[in-house]
Amino acid sequence: MSDTVPDRLGRPLRDLRVSVTDRCNFRCVYCMPREVFGRDYAFLPRAEILTFEEITRLVRVFVGLGVRKVRLTGGEPLVRRDLPVLVAELAGVPRLEDLALTTNGALLAAGAGRLAAAGLRRVTVSLDSLDDAVFRAMNGVAFPVERVLAGIRAAAAAGLAPVKINMVVKRGTNETSVLPMARFARDEGLVLRFIEYMDVGNSNGWRLADVVTADDLLATIDAVFPLEPLPPEQPGEVAGRYRYRDGAGEIGLIASVSRPFCGGCTRARLSAEGQLYTCLFAVRGHDLRAPLRGGASDADLEASLRSLWGERDDRYSELRSAGTTDLPRVEMFAIGG
Ligand code: SAM
Ligand code: SF4
Ligand code: SF4
Repeated sequence: MSDTVPDRLGRPLRDLRVSVTDRCNFRCVYCMPREVFGRDYAFLPRAEILTFEEITRLVRVFVGLGVRKVRLTGGEPLVRRDLPVLVAELAGVPRLEDLALTTNGALLAAGAGRLAAAGLRRVTVSLDSLDDAVFRAMNGVAFPVERVLAGIRAAAAAGLAPVKINMVVKRGTNETSVLPMARFARDEGLVLRFIEYMDVGNSNGWRLADVVTADDLLATIDAVFPLEPLPPEQPGEVAGRYRYRDGAGEIGLIASVSRPFCGGCTRARLSAEGQLYTCLFAVRGHDLRAPLRGGASDADLEASLRSLWGERDDRYSELRSAGTTDLPRVEMFAIGG
C-alpha cells in the first residue's frame, strides 16, 4: 500500500508533533496563564500518559503512513523524566528523516549534551524577550532570561545547530523586544521565527487587537535591517522566510492569524495521553491510547489512522473570520503548538 494518505483536501500526512507531557515549569501569559493554571490545577496522572514504548510504537506506525518529521513538544518536554531515552528510541526509527524538539530552554543548559548524544539533531527554543523584566513577566514564574540564554549556548555547543528561536509577539507586552531580538539572532547566528499570537485554547483571553501581524513585524525589522523574501524550502512550510540583504542570516514569520496556511498543512498532533488531533484548533481528539492498550495490532492502528486522516477536512485558520472562534478548543499546552 502506498505510504502517503491524502486527506479530503488532498494534503498528505508528513509531520507529527508529539506532546510528551502536559506539565510545564512556566506559566506563559499566552499559553498557561497563572490565574487559570494555579497550584491546584489537575494535570494528567502518570498512568494516563503514553509511555516511551507506546510513543515509539505509534511513531513507527505514523512513519508507515508517510510521516517523515517528528517534533517533541509539550507542555515542557524537558520536564518529562529521561527524555533522552525517548529521543534515542525515536532516532532509531527507519525512514524518520527529522527529529526535533521545541522547549522553553529552562532546563536546556543541563540537558542539551545528553539530548544531542541520544540523537536529537535540532532544537527550537521559545524566547519572547531579552529584557529580563519583560521575560520574567511573560513566563509567569519570574524565570531569568540569562538561564535560557545559557541553554541556547549549550544547545549550539552540543551541535544542535542552527538553533531556532520562536518568539510570540503580543501587543502591549513585548513588541519593544522585536528589534533587540532580531539584532541578537543576527549576531549569534540563530534563526529567529516570529509567531503571531494565536487564539488557541480558551484560557488566554485572546483578542484580535493583541495580535501584532507578520506585516507589522516585517515593516519594523525591514526599516532597520532590510529584508528580502526567500522561496519556501519545502511545500507546506508554515513560516514565510526572509533573508537579510546584508547576508546576516534569515528570519521566519508564522502568520497563522493574518495569512493562514491550512492549504499546505500536513501536520498531526499527538497529545500526552494519546489523543490524535488533526488540527491545532480541533474541538476534539481521537483516542489512540485505548486501542494501543487494548491489544490492537500495528495493522489495526494503521488502518484507523489511515481512515482518520482520510476524513480530515480541518482548515480552522482559514475559517476563523467566518465566525468559528467561539467554539471550545483544546489548550495549546496539551497538544504542543
Ligand atoms: N514548552 C515548550 C515551549 O514553550 O517551547 C513547547 C510547547 S509550547 C506550547 C510550543 C510553542 O507554542 C511555543 O513556541 C510557544 O511560544 C507557542 N505558543 C503557545 N501559546 C501560543 C499562542 N497563544 N500563540 C502563539 N504561539 C503560542
Ligand atoms: Fe509552557 Fe511552552 Fe506554554 Fe510557555 S508556551 S506555558 S513554556 S508550554
Ligand atoms: Fe493546520 Fe488547522 Fe493550523 Fe489550518 S488551522 S494550518 S489545518 S493546524
